Amino acid sequence: MNADYSRRLFLKKAIAGIPFVTGIAILAGSCNNSGTNNKPKDDNTATFKSCDDLSGLSAEEKDARIKLHYVDKSPVKSKVCRICALYIPAKEGMECGGCTLLKGPIHPEGTCIYFTPKEEV
Ligand code: SF4
Repeated sequence: MNADYSRRLFLKKAIAGIPFVTGIAILAGSCNNSGTNNKPKDDNTATFKSCDDLSGLSAEEKDARIKLHYVDKSPVKSKVCRICALYIPAKEGMECGGCTLLKGPIHPEGTCIYFTPKEEV
């Protein structure tokens, strides 16, 4: 193999690798951005100033609460949010927690049609 052929082969391979290296760099950059945008919460609690404050919710999010028949006071004592697997406890001193399914404040004594009892450990 002569030096000219070898150099040409090297350049061809180097040029062919540019899109791959560029793709990796873009992917690495986007991973860093998503990491800062999706910071893990310091604890697994929800903070709402008021159980009645739905002002931060979109029309669709409010509609979802209605469609899933969410109520602040469950008519059935054995089906309350505080013992639901989807409930996010309220931060200490706060009355309402949250829910992984429904947006907005969730009363610990509330319920909806998706009530899922926590598994006993
Ligand atoms: S899924 Fe329903 S019952 Fe369970 S925490 Fe959410 S709102 Fe309450």
